Amino acid sequence: MKRHPFVMAVCSDFAGQVRGKGFPAEDLPARLAGGVGWTPTNVMINCFGAIPATPFGPRGDLLLMPDLAAEVCVDFEDGSVPEHFLLGDIVDMARRPWSCCTRHYLKSAIARLSGHGLRLRVAFEHEFFHGGVEERPGGSYGLDAIRRAGDFPHALIAAIAQAGLEPETVLPEYGPRQIEVTLRPALALAAADRAVMLRQIVHALAWRRGHRVSFSPVVTHGVVGNGVHIHFSLEDMDGKPLSHDPARPCGVSAIAGRFIAGVIEHGRALTALTAPSVLSYERLKPNSWSTTVTNLGYRDREAFVRICPVSDVAGADVGRAFNFEYRACDGAATPHLALGALIRAGLAGIEAGLETPAITMADPDGLSPGERAASNIRPLPASLGEALDALEKTGNILMESDEMRAAYLMHKRGEIATVEGLDLPALAARYALVY
Ligand code: GLU
Ligand code: MG
Repeated sequence: MKRHPFVMAVCSDFAGQVRGKGFPAEDLPARLAGGVGWTPTNVMINCFGAIPATPFGPRGDLLLMPDLAAEVCVDFEDGSVPEHFLLGDIVDMARRPWSCCTRHYLKSAIARLSGHGLRLRVAFEHEFFHGGVEERPGGSYGLDAIRRAGDFPHALIAAIAQAGLEPETVLPEYGPRQIEVTLRPALALAAADRAVMLRQIVHALAWRRGHRVSFSPVVTHGVVGNGVHIHFSLEDMDGKPLSHDPARPCGVSAIAGRFIAGVIEHGRALTALTAPSVLSYERLKPNSWSTTVTNLGYRDREAFVRICPVSDVAGADVGRAFNFEYRACDGAATPHLALGALIRAGLAGIEAGLETPAITMADPDGLSPGERAASNIRPLPASLGEALDALEKTGNILMESDEMRAAYLMHKRGEIATVEGLDLPALAARYALVY
């Protein structure tokens, strides 16, 4: 069979879906300059493929401009065609950034942060369910569990490396047939692009083998969820690390403390973008190694923001390794929206001059209501609807564009209506198919 080289220009949208248009590979130079046609209402297609409501209707035109800096071209050498796509930015016909472009949403947050002489180094840590392989009962972190995945880790690392994503670890996670993949830290835009690419590479590899994978926050009701943890640290524009100060409590520098205070202050609204599915709130439950309240916790894997351990080994570059982990994110989130919102919340903390939040050294459940209130420790929203209400209340703090905020709220409220009435197993089954 004859096969012509084929490329897709894509974007990761409000629904955390990667959509776009394809063309013959020889047209790539022309498409880099001229983009592919795009439609405003596409951003209202929810993760189930429905458009319950749209402010745009059938009107309007946009361009999706592929970016060579975000290109994936992976030949799996399995006799099939390579995986070739480029992430892009959505612009209007005058080539101005479109208000609902998720990549622009992140880029504008990065630009604001750089106005403070700061940039963020980020690593997304992904967990996913790998179906199609034999389950190893009791196989958490087990050598035998990963063995049963065959050469999946080997092929995955090869593909990740071929795409230029710098693989760090692949491990058999706690849950049955759950795998975790981490990539090396990168600057914010590259890290978000890579998170999208990684998910697609995992899906591409699984699809070629007839396996199912899912990044859905809860694949099987009652079984531990899949998180997407966002590790971050601040640095100056020359790359000098700024997060660590050994003279301050738990080593949290003053500037990092302000940033995290903003993340905590706006934490409830933030979840509307980082835990953006109806099912996400099934993962954010007590005793599930996710998180339930807006706290900054020292080396605590149920903290909202966790102060990660750094090696105390002599010679380790503690300043550079020191980082924080935002744990209320999952695979339904578009990385660009999640990170763009996290940065905006952090900026709000810096610009308001907030002080480092109280650091919890033990389970915040042990604190009295008064102690919690004094430390700004509040319960996370119990549902997507609650999170969206919190986002709406923050006004332009997490989303300065009125058009984007209205469209996002409409999109996500439509998603809630789409799955209304489903019980938890049915809900988990529906989301498992689309993430
Ligand atoms: N699976 C847990 C989550 O949903 C995280 C486990 C861990 O890596 O600490 O976030
Ligand atoms: Mg994990």
